Amino acid sequence: MARPGNKIIQAKLVLLGDMGTGKTSLALRFIKGQFYDQQEPTIGAAFFTQILSLSEATVKFDIWDTAGQERYHSLAPMYYRGAAAAVVVYDISNMDTFNRANKLVQELQRQGNQIVVMALAANKSDLDSQREVPTEEGEQFSQENGMFYIETSAKTAQNINELFYEIAKRLARVS
Ligand code: GDP
Ligand code: MG
Repeated sequence: MARPGNKIIQAKLVLLGDMGTGKTSLALRFIKGQFYDQQEPTIGAAFFTQILSLSEATVKFDIWDTAGQERYHSLAPMYYRGAAAAVVVYDISNMDTFNRANKLVQELQRQGNQIVVMALAANKSDLDSQREVPTEEGEQFSQENGMFYIETSAKTAQNINELFYEIAKRLARVS
């Protein structure tokens, strides 16, 4: 809960990335602390809220998950309008999803937006034995685009809280 004198930041956060990279799983792991093995493709845009309390601020996230529109490979400006934060997700075991993440970031930059904190989530880190995208490539790409890089697994919960806390901290710093 908010403490007296503690600033409250309300932030829209959008999940972006190819189908099957684990966007819905990341959100559910963060919000419910669970992993669902056969996640159904989301029907209708899903919307979650979560509150994170930091010492410097209380951050209320409105988390937007896609309704599977990502399969059409177009980014609806309505989806990310007003977003302060974005998590671009790819699957480390699938190079196509990394290339798709590149395209998404380019498209976002071309269209112009007000996103102030962007994370690159290299998801499915538990599938390291099937890795197609080297860590260094992800790191380099994120540096070039002003994003922060983090390897996550919705399956094992690795770095899920860290991802959202880091976003909250960065939002608090610029708000
Ligand atoms: P979305 O289309 O981006 O929302 O992806 P989903 O969250 O629906 O996940 C697609 C598939 O990948 C599902 O079968 C998930 O169980 C699986 N998945 C998601 N995250 C992970 C992860 O971190 N590790 C592994 N091994 N599988 C995952
Ligand atoms: Mg989904």
